Amino acid sequence: MTVFTGEHEMFRQSVRNFVEKEINPHAEAWEEAGMFPAHELFPKLGALGVLGLEYDPAYGGQGADHIYTAIYGEEFGRAATGGVAMAVSVQTDMATPALHRFGSEDLKERYLTPAIKGEMVAAIAVTEPDAGSDVAGIRTRAVRDGDEWVINGTKLYITNGVQADWLCLLVRTSEEGGHRGMTQIVVPTEVEGFSVSRKLDKLGQRSSDTAELSFVDMRVPVSNTIGEIGRGFQQQMAQFQNERLIAAYMACGNMRLALDRTVAYVKERQAFGRSLADNQWIQFRLAELVAEVDLLRQYNYACADAIAAGSDPIMITKMASIAKLKSGRLQREVADWCMQFHGGIGYMEETWTARYFRDSRLLSIGGGADEVMLRIIAQLEGIGNG
Ligand SMILES: Cc1cc2nc3c(=O)[nH]c(=O)nc-3n(C[C@H](O)[C@H](O)[C@H](O)COP(=O)(O)OP(=O)(O)OC[C@H]3O[C@@H](n4cnc5c(N)ncnc54)[C@H](O)[C@@H]3O)c2cc1C
Repeated sequence: MTVFTGEHEMFRQSVRNFVEKEINPHAEAWEEAGMFPAHELFPKLGALGVLGLEYDPAYGGQGADHIYTAIYGEEFGRAATGGVAMAVSVQTDMATPALHRFGSEDLKERYLTPAIKGEMVAAIAVTEPDAGSDVAGIRTRAVRDGDEWVINGTKLYITNGVQADWLCLLVRTSEEGGHRGMTQIVVPTEVEGFSVSRKLDKLGQRSSDTAELSFVDMRVPVSNTIGEIGRGFQQQMAQFQNERLIAAYMACGNMRLALDRTVAYVKERQAFGRSLADNQWIQFRLAELVAEVDLLRQYNYACADAIAAGSDPIMITKMASIAKLKSGRLQREVADWCMQFHGGIGYMEETWTARYFRDSRLLSIGGGADEVMLRIIAQLEGIGNG
């Protein structure tokens, strides 16, 4: 059971201050622009130390325990624009964990250290037009030519894709089908043959850029391979656990804030001669959501403890899948009720509830849809292989 130390609490406060000072004042402008300036914001995050919380100090990381990641996630979840929080978590928990775990010294020096400092922006490129939930269906291919990979294919819905300096790219490197013959490669976006085909327009998370990326005879040294050739699928599955957990931590941060703000509103707003909060229905609905968020938060802390204790990877996979599934579903519910109890003003763009409603919808789709989480849980519980 997680008990926060004074140092954890000080860290929480410094991250909260950062979000309030460096992100929230720009939320409207970045939402409007459909992008935030990652190359301006990330060096500040690097200086704060959050881009490499658990990473080895040899590469500029903090060498901190996983509880710090849970705190950082909750606090970034409170940001006034979900897109920035998501983009930062791509850098910390989606594009770099495999490089830290499996990358060569040279690769880490060239790509991880600058990512931790915030000097380079990273993206994770797995999804393709014909393969999202079923990662084994990817077709982007890297063919070996001497000391180089020659890469051809397309990646879709890539967060930070417009601004990224390098990608953690999952490709096919052999004719074996299914889960075999995939490899992770660090791909610098300055190399000829790479292009951003389209910047995509989204329902929510509008301050983050999302792109379709194209690779045409792009040549990258074989030494840019992360870990083992042919083990890319397995390495990516391990990396997905970081992604799913940070998403769950962020969701708990934003759900708690959304409920606090809604409680303040219903106490203020009058109808039928009394405040909205004087209606037992509203009290009970909000109380129940508070209870559910609190349960999930405690479950998240159990996940954080399991990671910090170096528990069995299968158990972590199951816990991360449960946390991601339940937070995706609960966040949708919380966003819906917060809007409902704000009434008409809640439906207006001028009120935070509108953006929150849109931003919240992604969690049940991205990073493995709810059904993919259910599939993993069903398999690990021995219920079936759906
Ligand atoms: C805003 C945004 C940002 C993203 N960022 C990134 C990124 O940075 N990098 C990256 O690689 N990808 C990214 N993605 C892609 C995301 O991870 C995929 O969209 C997601 O995994 C779902 O894949 P898909 O869209 O191909 O849906 P599909 O695989 O076509 O599935 C469609 C739906 O079918 C259902 N479904 C799927 N499989 C099953 C099953 N076995 N049983 C029952 N139902 C099922 C689910 O409800 C699912 O939502 C992003 C997506 C979005 C929208």
